[in-house]
Amino acid sequence: MSDARATVVCDCGYEEQFDRLRDARSAVADHRDDTGHDPTWKIHEVAAGVEQAGADAGVCGRPECTNEESPLYRD
Ligand SMILES: [Zn+2]
Repeated sequence: MSDARATVVCDCGYEEQFDRLRDARSAVADHRDDTGHDPTWKIHEVAAGVEQAGADAGVCGRPECTNEESPLYRD
C-alpha cells in the first residue's frame, strides 16, 4: 500500500511520489535546477476528504460531530 502524500510530475515524463510534502517540494527544486524544466506537484487529499464527509454526516451522533448546516439537523 502507498502512503504517498504528493506526486511530482513534469512534461518530460518525470513522475515520482513522495511520502512527505517537504521531499516533494525539494524534488521540484532539484528537477528544476538539474534540467531547467518546470515540474508541478499534486498534493493527495483523498483521506482528508473522506474524514470530512464522515464528520458532516454526524455519524457518531455527538453534537460536536453534527453539521448544523445539514437539513437533517434539529435543535
Ligand atoms: Zn522534466
